[in-house]
Amino acid sequence: MSLLKTPAITLRSRRWGEADRIVTFYTLRFGKLRGVARGARRLKSRFGSALEPFVHCDLNLFEKANDHLHRVTQADIQESFAGLREDLERMASAARLANLVNAITAEGDQSSRKFETLLAGLRALQAGHDPGLTALLFQVKLLELSGYQPRTDHCVTCGGELHKTGEAKGFRFSPMAGGLVCDSCAWRRPDGGLVLSPGSVAFLQKAGQLTPEALTRLTVAGPMRRELDTTIEAYVTVVAGKRLPPVDFLAAEPREPAYEAKRWP
Ligand SMILES: [Zn+2]
Repeated sequence: MSLLKTPAITLRSRRWGEADRIVTFYTLRFGKLRGVARGARRLKSRFGSALEPFVHCDLNLFEKANDHLHRVTQADIQESFAGLREDLERMASAARLANLVNAITAEGDQSSRKFETLLAGLRALQAGHDPGLTALLFQVKLLELSGYQPRTDHCVTCGGELHKTGEAKGFRFSPMAGGLVCDSCAWRRPDGGLVLSPGSVAFLQKAGQLTPEALTRLTVAGPMRRELDTTIEAYVTVVAGKRLPPVDFLAAEPREPAYEAKRWP
């Protein structure tokens, strides 16, 4: 057995047996990993609230040979992000960032930038930035850092030039192809019909370029915000392979996903 020490953020925590928890972390030094915390659900657990969702802690764990499940021995809170668990909108947005990282990251896939981006997203939510917009911005950045940046320079299918569609005055986005598609490719793709205005395309490009700390300076509202929300929701559903719990569950009428991942082979 070897002892691992690393800063970590809790992505997911579930009950295990009588008194234990299995916790999925995104860690700075070792990427995503899972650990069992013995006795974590007892009243006087030594872990206290350090294993709650979104908590940023310094983690000690034992790695066992031939076992994906580590043993958590100590977790010291650095930032509790308590405010994110006390407000439904902020919680939904924080959960989306944690769920996205969990869904698109393989165990052991280490990225300091992804860790810092997730942390910056949680800090922005804690600081009171618009929860829905913050979720949008940081999802775009986390997708980029995971190799899923939406392609917007040329047609993602054939590499050809992109033209604004005359009728809709926008570009066509294909969630399955992972970017903008030209008119002739859009006709051949059943999902090539999501329209993104030039302003939305510029927003996506900018969000991909900015550092996590600078991201919250970007704003978008109105129809552009709606088409970006719809597009990123559809794309995240494809990339994650499933619908993640919604960010906007408080909306009067929940938005239907533009595309269900299960519809595609
Ligand atoms: Zn094309």
